[in-house]
Amino acid sequence: MGEPRLRSEYLRQYRKKNAEKIRQYKKEYYQQHKKMPTQIPLSEIERKKRAYECQKRWRKKNRERLRLWSKNYWRKHQQSYRVKARESYYRNRDSILAHHKQSYIRDKQRVYEHYSLNGIKCACCGCYDEWALSIDHIKNNGKEERREFKQGTGSSFYKWLIKNNFPDGYQVLCRNCNWGKKIFGECPHKMH
Ligand SMILES: [Zn+2]
Ligand SMILES: [Zn+2]
Repeated sequence: MGEPRLRSEYLRQYRKKNAEKIRQYKKEYYQQHKKMPTQIPLSEIERKKRAYECQKRWRKKNRERLRLWSKNYWRKHQQSYRVKARESYYRNRDSILAHHKQSYIRDKQRVYEHYSLNGIKCACCGCYDEWALSIDHIKNNGKEERREFKQGTGSSFYKWLIKNNFPDGYQVLCRNCNWGKKIFGECPHKMH
């Protein structure tokens, strides 16, 4: 039979082997406790807390075993997971892409609305051309910030701004003004 590997399996075998003993124990327990006042049922929160504590203790005790188990499990199923993920991606490709596009548009809209006054336009020259607008790092520290905060570009940058509750230091600029600012330190529009 060998060493049972799972706790549930072990318990099942234990109960089977010791059926009589358990029955006896239960009977004694009942006799001893039948006159005691009924226990106050635990609140839902307390119950969950206790269950969680119990699980935590078990995990701590069996950490190495769990690690091995998940490692083996992953190794064994890795290939099939990959295949399944790929298949499901291709099956739902259109809807996944549509979903990404929608969330991109939504995020972009939110970000541009937040960082512009009176309608979405360039903060310097006021041009409205949507395709020319971008979010500008006011202090020209885009490179550093992208690296430091892992902001990314495009959709991940919008998501970063939203997640960080629209921090200060950004504005909407068109590409002309953006380049002007980058090259001259200030957009030439503002120098006249
Ligand atoms: Zn502009
Ligand atoms: Zn300008």
